[in-house]
Amino acid sequence: MHTPTLIIGGGLSGLSLAYALERAGHAYTLVEARGRLGGRIKSLRVEAALFDLGPSWVWPGQTRVAALAGELDLQLFEQWSNGAQLFEQASGEVVQDMGFMSMAGSLRIAGGTSVLTDALAARLNPAHILLDCAVSAIDDSPAAQLTDGETITADRIVLCIPPRLAAELRFTPALQDGAMAALRAIPTWMGAHAKFVAVYPTPFWRKDGLSGDASSRRGPLAEIHDASPADGSLGALFGFVGLPADIRAQAGDAVQAASLAQLENLFGAQAGAPIAATLIDWSQDPFTATAADATPPPGHPPYTMPAPLRCIWDDKLIFAVTEMAPDNGGLIEGALAAAEAAARKIIG
Ligand SMILES: Cc1cc2nc3c(=O)[nH]c(=O)nc-3n(C[C@H](O)[C@H](O)[C@H](O)COP(=O)(O)OP(=O)(O)OC[C@H]3O[C@@H](n4cnc5c(N)ncnc54)[C@H](O)[C@@H]3O)c2cc1C
Repeated sequence: MHTPTLIIGGGLSGLSLAYALERAGHAYTLVEARGRLGGRIKSLRVEAALFDLGPSWVWPGQTRVAALAGELDLQLFEQWSNGAQLFEQASGEVVQDMGFMSMAGSLRIAGGTSVLTDALAARLNPAHILLDCAVSAIDDSPAAQLTDGETITADRIVLCIPPRLAAELRFTPALQDGAMAALRAIPTWMGAHAKFVAVYPTPFWRKDGLSGDASSRRGPLAEIHDASPADGSLGALFGFVGLPADIRAQAGDAVQAASLAQLENLFGAQAGAPIAATLIDWSQDPFTATAADATPPPGHPPYTMPAPLRCIWDDKLIFAVTEMAPDNGGLIEGALAAAEAAARKIIG
């Protein structure tokens, strides 16, 4: 099979690039390793509502997100932050703490972040999308080999996968040492993290004057926020698990049970009886994170496109993932920025 542009990875950056090529009338094929599109953007469906298991927030001033939401007819709304925040001491005692930073001012996408990738996917020709197709090797002809042995040749290949996963592919000829070292050095944003989401019939804590924001020295959830839909038709709380990835892996299901018990300790008995709850550990997801990602970076890395990766094989191999974006690297806006830069190279 031959395609002018082969896009590897169907997360937001790959989908957004495909959308740009589709609108420009430029033929492409997108291959995605998983049986679903969206990558780190993933949701839990409860009744008609979607709850974010990956990213929740975008921010004012992110112009690409705002423009795309407008184009796709998606609404943004403000993160719920009215009411008191809670703080759980190491002893388990709960106090109202005014010093803790909520996510006030952050924006969410109505219907859940997945509506963004779903809406993009809906605008693509399904004949150009291949699911359950993991790429294992790339050569400079250029061609990509899939794990099932199939080969796809192309005029150019765009890698829309986290850099550390790219470093695990077999390149022929081998990329220069500087390029491989650069790929391995780039942490997958949020690849070390796990998120717990609990869904309730109502956002009951709001009636108690609570915002749903909480921080804890006890855990396992370190930071908790309201994750309810925009219309409050259901309630939801989510928390980032504060335990390191290796401890989480050893603890298994106990983390989910302890997270629920913690929500009950913070928000009362109703919090212990969700209609749905799930824990997702991104560090264990082989199409997001590598073993090196188990340790999170100390802060938000200064993501950029490393010099050795800017022009590989006369641009027959292009990198376009959020961690290599020209701005907002690691974020949703960065995924759009990376796709925009790649589209500019391809379409001109
Ligand atoms: C828990 C969590 C919370 C987050 N919170 C926020 C937030 O609040 N705000 C924000 O802006 N960002 C947040 N992020 C980051 C945000 O999710 C990412 O910036 C964005 O989704 C990255 O999109 P991407 O397409 O660049 O990469 P990905 O979503 O990682 O997409 C890569 C795709 O490539 C596929 N793939 C991998 N290997 C192969 C292969 N060998 N062959 C074929 N396909 C392959 C994967 O399956 C995946 O679909 C968060 C991420 C996580 C995990």
